[in-house]
Amino acid sequence: MNGDNNYDLIVIGAGSGGVAASRRAAAHGAKVTIVEADRVGGTCVIRGCVPKKLFMYAAGLGAALAEAGGYGWADVTGRFEMARWADAKAAETARLEAIYRGMLADSGVTLISGRAKLLAPDRVAVGERHLRTGHVLIATGGWPSTNALPGLAAAMTSNELLDLRELPASLLVIGGGYIAVEFASILAGLGVAVTLAYRAELPLRGFDADLRSRLAQALVQRGITLASGVALTALEHDSTTGRYTLVRADGSRFQAAAALNATGRRPNTAGLGLADVGVAVDGHGAIRVDADSRSNVAGVWAVGDVTNRVNLTPVAIAEGRAFADSVFGHRPTRVDHRLVASAVFTDPPSATVGLTEADAAKLGPVDVYESDFRPMKTAFVGSPARSYMKLVVDGLNERVLGIHMIGADAPEIVQSLAVALTCGATKRDFDRTLAVHPTAAEEFMLMREPRRRLGRTPAPTA
Ligand code: NDP
Repeated sequence: MNGDNNYDLIVIGAGSGGVAASRRAAAHGAKVTIVEADRVGGTCVIRGCVPKKLFMYAAGLGAALAEAGGYGWADVTGRFEMARWADAKAAETARLEAIYRGMLADSGVTLISGRAKLLAPDRVAVGERHLRTGHVLIATGGWPSTNALPGLAAAMTSNELLDLRELPASLLVIGGGYIAVEFASILAGLGVAVTLAYRAELPLRGFDADLRSRLAQALVQRGITLASGVALTALEHDSTTGRYTLVRADGSRFQAAAALNATGRRPNTAGLGLADVGVAVDGHGAIRVDADSRSNVAGVWAVGDVTNRVNLTPVAIAEGRAFADSVFGHRPTRVDHRLVASAVFTDPPSATVGLTEADAAKLGPVDVYESDFRPMKTAFVGSPARSYMKLVVDGLNERVLGIHMIGADAPEIVQSLAVALTCGATKRDFDRTLAVHPTAAEEFMLMREPRRRLGRTPAPTA
């Protein structure tokens, strides 16, 4: 299409998915503009994965200082100052945002600042400006939801917590998912008295049960109070003292100087004009899409958290690129959402790819291999911390179906092993892979006998 306000593709939302899709579409020769109401980079770069990981590194340095004495270092002391970290973090996100803006410009994608609204499948308004397009891609991500319990709106979300300039003395973390356990672990590592309150018996619903129970133990070892297994009723905020009280269904109450709402996120669809154009959303407000990220309205597509499929940055990027390759590169591409590796950046971290033991056992016989040990680095300084690894293997053909780990470097190790899983590696392939010694990862190659075999019909007795 030609003309200043005519495009082949308008992308709404310059986060991970939108930026990836716009650049790939432009590389295929499309005329692309991307509309963003806030900062370029989206949740991951500005207020999510990146600052969270920088925060995790800050907490990890505290642990390193504590271990240094055991390694022969003398007079090692230190004190964390949140304002110093906040300034450094703000500088880093600004640097990354500039890189993102540069990448868009270098790719030939124009950036429009403002809030976009669909007027028709081929027309988008940004303020007074009206744009025409062949396709619209909605990549507006998600936002913390505040309706899980009454009073939650008074709590911080991860957005505000990452912008604090002073740490609270104590913190109530509400929820037991990724954000809850990561921030509980980080804040505890920085010296805050943390209570982690979730309604299930164990944190991280959906993860392998052995990882969940070991994570709960590790969080307790880090000094976190777990308030689990009871429904959460309300959060009360005393405006005189500033303190927060979490009330549970059994009448128990937990107090702290600050509260973090980590009860999940909702797709960002408000004000986009979806209903006017007839774009269907589900009960959670997520845009309904098919396997190619196509909405029910021709020419309108959506990727990333706004579709509430697998809400992870690499998935949004893959969906964005698959869309662009399919529509503008004439190379039909789909994302396989069944095999997505993910990591939880607690101390120690967890990582996982493939089926949990319980899910695999529902499909047929499985052999479960485990390794559970005190890692060299922390055992040396007398820490009781343990690492745990699990391979879930198909009992019929030896194919590895799931890889799970909690322990130092788990995200790095599992990311690499995810290639083997994607390639269909068998337990025999792991056995014939020589170890790199001394590492923790080698334990995955050295698992001899299954710890248990599930789902086999017992042999008939004579
Ligand atoms: P999650 O969906 O992971 O967790 C939400 C938590 O809130 C669950 O523990 C859930 O409990 C709890 N909850 C929801 N409603 C209620 C309620 N009414 N009462 C009590 N508890 C409730 O969301 P997060 O906010 O932690 O993270 C959002 C998304 O961001 C995740 O889906 C994840 O994909 C992504 N993310 C990924 C990270 C990573 O890859 N490392 C890091 C951070 C975020 P229950 O399980 O019992 O329903």
